[in-house]
Amino acid sequence: MTGSSHEVLKSVFGFHDFRGVQEQVVDRVLAGRHSLAVMPTGAGKSLCYQLPALLRQGTGLVISPLIALMHDQIRSADALGIRAASLTSADGGRAETENRLRAGGLDLLYVAPERATTGAFRRLIAEIPLALIAIDEAHCVSEWGHDFRPDYRQLRSILDERSDVPRLALTATADARTRSDILAQLGIPDDGLIVAGFDRPNIRYHVEPRNGVAAQLKALLASQEGAGIVYAPSRDKAERIAESLSTARRPALPYHAGLDPSVRAGNQAAFVQSENMVIAATVAFGMGIDKPDVRFVAHAGVPKSIEAYYQETGRAGRDGEPAEAWLFWSASDFATARKRIETEVEPERRQGERERLNALAALVETPNCRRVILLRHFGESPPERCGNCDNCLNPPTTVDATEAARKLLSAVFRTEMRFGAGHLIEVLAGNDNEKVRRFGHHRLSVFGIATQDELALMQPVARALVARDALRADPYGGLSFGPSARAILKGEATLEIALPPPRKRRSRGRRSE
Ligand code: ADP
Ligand code: ZN
Repeated sequence: MTGSSHEVLKSVFGFHDFRGVQEQVVDRVLAGRHSLAVMPTGAGKSLCYQLPALLRQGTGLVISPLIALMHDQIRSADALGIRAASLTSADGGRAETENRLRAGGLDLLYVAPERATTGAFRRLIAEIPLALIAIDEAHCVSEWGHDFRPDYRQLRSILDERSDVPRLALTATADARTRSDILAQLGIPDDGLIVAGFDRPNIRYHVEPRNGVAAQLKALLASQEGAGIVYAPSRDKAERIAESLSTARRPALPYHAGLDPSVRAGNQAAFVQSENMVIAATVAFGMGIDKPDVRFVAHAGVPKSIEAYYQETGRAGRDGEPAEAWLFWSASDFATARKRIETEVEPERRQGERERLNALAALVETPNCRRVILLRHFGESPPERCGNCDNCLNPPTTVDATEAARKLLSAVFRTEMRFGAGHLIEVLAGNDNEKVRRFGHHRLSVFGIATQDELALMQPVARALVARDALRADPYGGLSFGPSARAILKGEATLEIALPPPRKRRSRGRRSE
């Protein structure tokens, strides 16, 4: 195809302007240079390789990890008149696709990494002119990333066999370390990194401790118009939440992998068309869903990582109109997530997962701007306050709770790391009740050492310490030290927390008043 990139943008894609960094990426590929584009979901990554594939001589080879994604992409390419095909185990007509490729009849060829690295495939493309090689979901190449796939590691050899072909790695989620990993693994120079803005200024972030989530969600719905998604931590909870929220005026339906496929598809279709429906879903929901007017996303439990939080909340307000993101969290969510990392994640990937969870803990715990924490994680340097999150709109009164935290940690230590926050607070308050006496805790040096002000903070302090992995909770709530306990005990780290609103303060420890 001939013409300038702007002409093709109009004639083929029907768009008047590039969005964000698209033009920068397209120009670089057209100049034959290697690049890594980090762009949030919805920013328009596909166009970044589709358009140059049309303008450069040869076929654009696209490495993509999921057959369903490839087929979606091919359908939308077809609709634009772009000649695209895939070679996967799910595709028939393989000989025909290969013939089209050889005859120069394909603008784009999609292939999974495990096939791309086979000898047969390399022989097939050896003589074919390639416009570019796009590596979609490029974070899969990094062990540090959240979705490492060993097949991605093998790609380097085919890239190097065709070192004259510009390579374009694309991803929506990559923290600084994952990015430099992708650059190194795929042989892309540092100046090839192009990062789009991650901010979604129309989304207002709210974070609250969970405390009777059904009532919290009902209160939210009462003040919130429009369609929304509630993410539930399990299928079971998705069902129960849908049931408890559904009213005649505002239907709520569940969505999860355990539903009959036809029911699931029906619920999804109903949601996409609806203007006021709530869907209570597990994380499976939302992947390929195109509903720009989702007005709110609520999480009834903490997502897997800060990336997951960004992705899931990002499904709100795609139309640019004001939208809300609500997160209802509990310290036990973090305890469970940490346990999962230690028991289910391969050892070499644990540190990355821990840091992604810590970033989320920092976001829920902060008395300062939520957006700042989110955007810093994606490598941006936003201003101190966004003006559109709960903490910016309603700055909480904060206190330095370091001393209270140290007392709580000491109590955990002195009671041999197996008691829950409730008992520890009794000990710190100096209440010699039956349980305290039974364990001889009234004789400990920490008995009665906390002041009334400190006692009033102990529950939120315990939550914050669990969130930042200074304390770990066992399944019965028993607390023991986590890796960040030492820094607080030694005075190397401080803990600032938002003062809980007065009516929610616990009366524990005030018995002696
Ligand atoms: P991503 O892969 O980054 O999530 P897509 O490539 O699926 O995003 O694009 C998201 C949406 O944005 C699509 O509907 C696409 O047609 C649209 N889009 C892409 N580029 C532009 C543009 N320059 N102007 C307007 N819409 C665009
Ligand atoms: Zn803010």
